Amino acid sequence: MRKLARQTLICIDPGHAKNTPGKRAGNPVFYEYEGNRRVARKLRTLLERAGFRVMYSCDLNNPNDLSLEGRARAARNAGADLFISIHTNAVNDTSVRGTETFIHTNSKASEDVARAVQDCLVKAIGQRNRGVKRANFGVLRNTYQHMLSILTEADFFTNPTARQWMFQESFDYAYAQAVAQGVCDYYKVEYPSDVIESKPVQDKTPVPEPIVTEDVGAAIVRVKANELWVYNKPDWNARYFTVKKDEAFTVMKELMVNDHKMYQLKSGLFITANTKYVELDGRVEAVSKNPATGTTSQSIRPYPGYPIRLTSPQMRDTNGRTDIQAVQRAVKVNPDGWYGPISERAVRNYQTRQGLIVDGIVGPQTWNHMF
Ligand SMILES: [Zn+2]
Repeated sequence: MRKLARQTLICIDPGHAKNTPGKRAGNPVFYEYEGNRRVARKLRTLLERAGFRVMYSCDLNNPNDLSLEGRARAARNAGADLFISIHTNAVNDTSVRGTETFIHTNSKASEDVARAVQDCLVKAIGQRNRGVKRANFGVLRNTYQHMLSILTEADFFTNPTARQWMFQESFDYAYAQAVAQGVCDYYKVEYPSDVIESKPVQDKTPVPEPIVTEDVGAAIVRVKANELWVYNKPDWNARYFTVKKDEAFTVMKELMVNDHKMYQLKSGLFITANTKYVELDGRVEAVSKNPATGTTSQSIRPYPGYPIRLTSPQMRDTNGRTDIQAVQRAVKVNPDGWYGPISERAVRNYQTRQGLIVDGIVGPQTWNHMF
């Protein structure tokens, strides 16, 4: 069995790159290519541990996109046996969820491996089985006559609940492990059960109702971003129209919506309270009273919009250093503004104590727990 795995070359294709249009959603922004690349790296580790030879279709450290033909050519030139294109899905209707796996319109050979992977993915993601589908996608068209070739869409990043999970490493593990398991099933290779680093746990917490945190009194909020959405409901999906830099509005209330702060304006509309995009005129001390727990928090900091992790690129700018220092104070290590192994270990300990997902990464869940 293992001999068969050694002879099999698998090409992992993480879909898209930073500048692919449209492949992003939400606030904070989820970039599809970033998730695809994280899953690709984990998948490679798992498949190699199972004994397969593995390559990527493109350079995962290059922010620029490689053409669909270039990705396919890399696999063909290397003589790959199986091509796996990793994606998450998008659609205008933000309520849609579910898992689907594609093969090329004319492919017969790829049906079985697609079905094996799709079965495992549906179990791991726990959403609707949308089935094995056929399409004339470029990467499939340019590979299916030379090798087995599939394209996986684990779930829809346009759905806010799915996206919340996609920001967490447990999603990447669930995705990568399911694909690796499906590939092992297809090739009848033993799945490397010893490599599971963290059990995938899907966050099933329902989307919380907005919590009124305080009447901030007639404060004025001013737009810092060049263009910014206002919402007609306390819901990040209820985009209404955009406002421009330096426009100002009267704030009535501060709300917590899906772990992110929002201001209710006197006009009845809503706007983000993220200080990256808006600033309050005059100093208003926000004091949060959560009716569920009765706890009061003196220092609310909005989530900076990106996770803080080892090798965080934001360490280099001043705002990023301030965010990291806040985290360091919360976990009681020297606030030097550098998120290194000591900070990471302290964050892991904090996550363990608080019953959070232990990954050493300060994403929205850990951040909002701290602040
Ligand atoms: Zn995609």
